[in-house]
Formats: sequence, C-alpha cells, structure tokens
Amino acid sequence: MKFSSGQRFVIQMSAIDTYRHKGMRSQLVELLRSKGISDERVLHAIEQVPRHVFFDKAFIEHAYEDKAFQIGSGQTISQPYTVAYQSQALQATPGMKVLEIGTGSGYQAAVLAEMGLKVFSIERHRPLYEKSRKMLDSLGYRQIKTTFGDGYAGWPVFAPFDRVIVTAAAPEIPPALVEQMKPGGRLVIPLGQEEDQVMVILTRQADGSVVREDGELFRFVPMLPGKVF
Ligand code: SAH
Repeated sequence: MKFSSGQRFVIQMSAIDTYRHKGMRSQLVELLRSKGISDERVLHAIEQVPRHVFFDKAFIEHAYEDKAFQIGSGQTISQPYTVAYQSQALQATPGMKVLEIGTGSGYQAAVLAEMGLKVFSIERHRPLYEKSRKMLDSLGYRQIKTTFGDGYAGWPVFAPFDRVIVTAAAPEIPPALVEQMKPGGRLVIPLGQEEDQVMVILTRQADGSVVREDGELFRFVPMLPGKVF
C-alpha cells in the first residue's frame, strides 16, 4: 500500500492520541453534560476530536480543561463549553453546509466535521490559516474547506449555507452572512463590543426576514475587518 506524506502523518498523530487523552476527553464530555449540553451529536464529536493536538506545546497539558487558550497571532481557541454551546445552538443535521467565521486553530471546524457537516471556514490571519490547514490535513479532515479572507464578506462561491457560526465577537450582524443563508437557516454569533458578548441566534424566514433569540454571555476576541498577512 502506498501512503501520501499526509497519511503517514495521520498515523503519527493517532500514535500520540493516547488512552490517557481519550480518558480526559470522556471526562470533558461528562463535564459538558453536567453544564447542560445535551446534543449527543455534539458530545460525540467532542469525544472524537483530539483537542490537544490543536494546542501549542506549552499548553498541551491543559487541553482538556474547560478553558480558552492562546493559539498565536493574539487569538484563542474557544473554551470547550463555548464550542459545545455554539455547535448545539446550530441545531444542524448531517449533510448540512455550515460556514464558520474564524478558523483559528481549526478545532471548532473539526468538531463540526465530526457532526457530519460540510464545513467551510474563513480566517483573516494568514499564519493561523496556514497552520490550521496543515493540522486539519494531518488529522485527515481534508474535506473541510478553509480560506484566507475576511469573514465579513462571507464565502459567496459556496453560498447559500444551511448554518453560519461566527467564533469572534461582532459589533453588529454582518449583512453578507444573513444574505448567504438559505431560508430556514440559522446564524449563531456572539454580538457586542463589551467585555462579555451575548450569543445571538438568528433564523432566516422564507420571506427573508429574521427572528432573533438571545442566549448566554461569552467572551470572544473581536471580529475585525480585513486580512492580516
Ligand atoms: N474557531 C476557532 C476560534 C478562533 S478565535 C477555534 O476553534 O480555534 C477567533 C478567530 O476569528 C481568530 O483566529 C481571528 O483571527 C478570527 N477572525 C476575526 N475576525 C475575522 C474575520 N473578519 N474574518 C475571518 N476571521 C476572523
């Protein structure tokens, strides 16, 4: 059998996803359950994705704590509870197309892929885009599409989407993201410029109007316009 270099790396990666890591993931899933996450598809996905490989070595021992951590370029990998909450709020079913704004480490994208979704993810920081692309390929998530760009414009060539998830705090709802949603589509976005932001869930109606629900408060890095090379 012939392996591409990518496939060889998958084997190395799986070798470092030990029983200890799997055990810590099971504990994390139980913690998320106790905090109110009940969507089995979300919990199963979190159980599958080796969160520690998305961490810089210095923080790897903390990968299964329910905390956010630095991933470089001044950005953070969201806290597991936040990832679970947003993933659950999407109310997505397998096969749906989901657009993510803020690839960051690629962890949230991997969780969405494990939920059976077709993932399209945009990152405005070039080094993070490149690093997350390599990581996703090495873990075998080649089906996840990522791009270096400004999420305020959405990703018109792949629109419309069933679901949109924004993983940075936006001052207001970017119109392009609503426009690129199918009727019945849901957008999950932390909104506001205060220290804490409210998780807003928008549902697009058949006539193009939207219905807004407000969820819990979270703390995200800001959604900024433009690209950083
Ligand atoms: N989902 C990520 C969390 C990343 S933190 C993960 O699982 O690791 C938020 C990310 O959003 C940062 O990487 C930041 O650079 C990115 N971001 C902020 N504004 C953006 C924009 N306008 N378009 C694309 N990405 C953006």
